[in-house]
Amino acid sequence: MDILQRDDLAFPQSFPEFQRLFPDDAACSANLWRARWSDGIACPHCGAVAEPFRIATRPGILECRACRRQTGLLVGTVMERSHTPLSVWFWAAYLVTSQTPGMSAVQFQRQLGLTRYETAFGILHKLRAGMVRPDQDRIGGRAGEHVEIDETWVGGRTRGEGRGIHHKTLVAAAVEVRHRKPGTAQDKRKDGRYAGRVRLAIADDRSADSLCGFVESAVMPGSLIVSDDWSGYASLRKRGYDHHAIAECGDPEVAEEFMPMIHLVFSNLKTWLNGIHHGVSAKHLQAYLNEFTFRFNRRFYLFNAFRLLSWYLGQRRGTDLGELFTRRVATCI
Ligand SMILES: [Zn+2]
Repeated sequence: MDILQRDDLAFPQSFPEFQRLFPDDAACSANLWRARWSDGIACPHCGAVAEPFRIATRPGILECRACRRQTGLLVGTVMERSHTPLSVWFWAAYLVTSQTPGMSAVQFQRQLGLTRYETAFGILHKLRAGMVRPDQDRIGGRAGEHVEIDETWVGGRTRGEGRGIHHKTLVAAAVEVRHRKPGTAQDKRKDGRYAGRVRLAIADDRSADSLCGFVESAVMPGSLIVSDDWSGYASLRKRGYDHHAIAECGDPEVAEEFMPMIHLVFSNLKTWLNGIHHGVSAKHLQAYLNEFTFRFNRRFYLFNAFRLLSWYLGQRRGTDLGELFTRRVATCI
């Protein structure tokens, strides 16, 4: 199944449209129902295909017209046992996917009028869990394209502790470098190069085991990889990659010429982490990296991201989104 083909799932492209499509909890529960049972509306107990009864006071419950048994729409989903109204969850999914830089829990709490910060944080954290799964497949592997690899220090405060690295976390990154078709309006910028998909992960250290281990989990074997000439990357060729190491990457001009995309990714990532989230603790960093990856890889298709996330809300926890993504999605990001 390809979620982008699911025309029955809403695809709001503006606030007024969102409001029209999701005016209340009942509309949200109808969307969940469609998302879960895609082949028409069939009762999971008796198989009857008929519009179920909805209980006005309990929007998460549907009752079969034939056997009168009830089905809990939220059982097993990330929303189970949540006291937050369904409509707030959908607003959350909409805000998270339609605001380009994303939102902090504080902004989010204010926008949705939630009384408790913990509620806002909890919702965002669960939506973030939905944003990780589609991006587990390895990038690269296409003819005529290569992948840039690098690592950087993220977060932490150094004030009052002297020079050097304190409380910072090492993040390894891989990004596909693609080429615009010659003759198109944008092919003059950066020689027509632009960033494709990205992968980000926390690395233990700068050893070959950590860095090459990251590459093996993130990039298809056989891909052409461009990195600096740090010894941690030296064994990539032995591990089945075509590897070009660039000397003197500390020189900004060399870096701009040979590894422009990875530096763009790091600069966007750091701006995003500092500006939106005012710094992030190491404990939650991987979740934020996942959210950044999800956004970056869908930056041209934000509204598809809402459709995906609203679909995810209706699924059982642990649902493997990866399987549901066809190549079509991979080629449009
Ligand atoms: Zn039934």
